This record gives sequence, structure tokens and C-alpha cells, in this order.
Amino acid sequence: MDTNKLLQTIKDRFSFRPNRNQLQELDRLVFEISRREKLSPEKIIADLPENIRFSRLKNLLIGRRFPLATKQEKISTHGLFLNELPKPLVDNWQPKREFKPLKILVEKEAKQSQLLKNFQNHCSGVEIEEIKLYSDYLKKHKFALNELKKPYIFIVKERWDFLKPCPCTKYHLGCGYWILNLGFGCPYDCSYCFLQHYTNSPGIVLPANLEDFFEQFDKFSQKIKLPIRIGTGEFCDSLALDQIAGYSKMLIPYFQNKNVLFELKTKSTNIKNLLDLRASKNIIISWSLSPEKLAGSEELAAPGLNQRLQAAQKIQAAGYSIGFHFDPIIYSPTWENDYQDLLKSLYQQLKPPLAWISLGTLRSNRRLKTVCEQRFPESNIFYGELLTGEDGKLRYPEFLRQEIYQKMAGWIRQYDSKTPVYLCMENKSLWKTLGEFDSSKKIEKYILSP
Ligand code: SF4
Repeated sequence: MDTNKLLQTIKDRFSFRPNRNQLQELDRLVFEISRREKLSPEKIIADLPENIRFSRLKNLLIGRRFPLATKQEKISTHGLFLNELPKPLVDNWQPKREFKPLKILVEKEAKQSQLLKNFQNHCSGVEIEEIKLYSDYLKKHKFALNELKKPYIFIVKERWDFLKPCPCTKYHLGCGYWILNLGFGCPYDCSYCFLQHYTNSPGIVLPANLEDFFEQFDKFSQKIKLPIRIGTGEFCDSLALDQIAGYSKMLIPYFQNKNVLFELKTKSTNIKNLLDLRASKNIIISWSLSPEKLAGSEELAAPGLNQRLQAAQKIQAAGYSIGFHFDPIIYSPTWENDYQDLLKSLYQQLKPPLAWISLGTLRSNRRLKTVCEQRFPESNIFYGELLTGEDGKLRYPEFLRQEIYQKMAGWIRQYDSKTPVYLCMENKSLWKTLGEFDSSKKIEKYILSP
């Protein structure tokens, strides 16, 4: 409903004239209820008693907007994010299923790299521009949000940011995981992806100097107590461009004989290089999975659920360890059936035990919700019962997360009694609900035990 019309409707029907902030909050609540219930804003307002004051009206709308949370607890209005409704972007770049770079921008120091040659071999005729430094280039070129998925490739010499501990999140149990920074950006376009509000550049940044990382890791591994878990899928998809970049051909032989668990995390089906290499137990190829209908509506340009499972099946048969991530788990009225169907498909195709399964419910900071509304105006995932958690992120309330984790873990255990199941970015009491594998150390010990 247009804001002026809403203002007039409120003045006509209720006994107050809202100020600007009040109008924004009511607009947001009515909008989100109308998206959740597939009803017009007019109908939602018509359902309300006449001549009530602002605070009663707001409370009634909050009760309707968060029905499960309202039944369990008094919702603090500080926990609500009732921001102005953003306008959807115009001319938003949509990624294609088959990634083809529009342009390659290569730092001067990476011009002789094998990575650039790999791109030249696979993408003949693509324009290549030499730049001095990626950071300088960004200072001179400002990009708008609608260009985020413009298929630019930046080939850079990574200077200092190769390896770091997983930042996890405030007040939640750390996972003890290490991140190998294998680039930033992704050819897929998931509506919930946190990279969207994290970057000021379009395209994908890829490091050309993996040998420097290997040197750094050799020194690092002498100073710490091994084993550790290390993986590349934090700011990118580990395999989405592997058919071109070929990183796996260097990473897998390097980590194969080290006392670490090395994970490549993906939604892709680019497994050819992996099948050509020797597999080993400490190399874990893991897939992020969502029920088919969510994969279709929220994970644009990524392969569908069955394609991912088929790829996992081939990789398991080749001798690698396999992991899965149900993250984000998205609550909906049909979530139980959707995720049970997904687990059934998984265990029809893969043999337990797996290296691990992680669970994490939808969460985001406030800015991401706004970006998602601008870029994916059809998506409804942020109109679930998300309230501000103690880490400042929007999350489902704890009772709902607990129900989701317990049910998911119970369904997994019906098929598989051994695979470690752990939580991502959750507090200690929720980890405890899952039983024996309540820390990253226990998972490492389990996987690496003979
Ligand atoms: S696959 Fe991962 S990195 Fe790529 S868009 Fe989706 S969430 Fe983001």
C-alpha cells in the first residue's frame, strides 16, 4: 500500500495520527504480514478493531506478524527491525547458470600466473585489462549494488590475508575452524548470502599465488597443535569455478599428506578435477543443501539438489570423505516435510558415516535483510520469525532453533548413528542439545581416528 494511502487509512480508522516513525513501523508490519499471509494490506487493516491507539495497534500487528514467538514470550520491541521498506533495484545483474567472464582484470604482479593462463584457455576472446592493484582500482571505480553479479574476474596477488581463524559470532561457541582465503565472490546468487552486504565490488576476486599460501601454511603448522580443520568456502564457493581456475589440483595434493582435515565446501557439480586426483580420507568435499523448492527459489544459478547429491555420490565412490551443511535451514509451515524428504534423498544416495553434517538456521545482520529485499523482491525468507539475537543478528528465537536442531538431528539419527552433527554459530546450550559431538576438537578426533 502506498504510504499516503496508509496514512489516510490509519487516520480514518483509528483514533490517532501517526508520526513519521510510527507510520514507518506500521507500514513495515502490515507489509510483512501481507507477504506472510498472502493477503492485501487493506484486508489486514480491515481485520483490526476500530478507534484503537498506536501502541495497541502496533502490539496487535506484532502478535500477528510473530505468532509463534508471541505465544512463547513477550517480544521486546527492541528486538524488532522495522525499517523503511526499500525499493527493489532496477536493472539488477542476474547471473547465468554457465559462468562466462565479461572481463578479466589482472594485477600487474599476477600477469604471468598460471591462473590467468587457465582463464585464457577456457574463455577465449574475453577482454583482459591490466591493473596495478585491485585496491587502487576500487578507489577509482565506484560500483552500484545492481552490478554486484557483473561477471568480472579480478586476478590478484594475495598479500596478507590467506589464513585466518573462523570469525564465528559474538556470544556463540567457536568452531575452531581455519579459513584459507581462496578468493571473494561467487558465480551463484543465493538470496541469503552474506557476501552481498560485505563487498563494494562486483565480480569475483581470485588469488594467483597459492604457492605463497603453502609457504605460509608450512611455517604456521609448525607453530600450532595439529590437527586442525581448514577450508576454503567462507567467502566463495570452493569449486564453482574449479573447472577454470583448477585450484583443487594444487590444494588436494598439498593437504593430502598433512595432519589436517581439509574441506572444499560447495554447491557446484564441478568434480572433474577431483575425480582425476587421488582421494584420501582427510580431504572432505562437502555440499550445502536445501530442499529442492528452496534451492530453486533462493539459490539462483546454483545446481539443483539432485545434481548436488549425484555429484556427492560420485565423489564418495571415488574415496573422498563427504560432508553436508544444512545452512541456512529456513523455517516455513512445510519445513518438516521438506527437510525429511531431503534427508531421505540424501541417504538413498550416500552411505553413512559421513565426515560431518552441520546445522545452522537462517541468520543475518540487519543490512543483509535490506539488501535481500532490494535484490530479491520476490523472496519471503526474511519474513519468517526473525528477531534480534544477543549477537545483534536477526535469528529465529531460541525455542524455535532448539526445536529445529533437535528434529533435524533426530531425523538424521534414524538413518545414521555415527556421523558427527554439529551447529554453526550457536550458543553452548544449543550445542549441548545435540549430545556427544559438542566441540570441534571432538569432531577432529573422531574423523582422524584410525
Ligand atoms: S553459493 Fe555460497 S558464496 Fe555463493 S552465493 Fe550462495 S551462499 Fe553465497
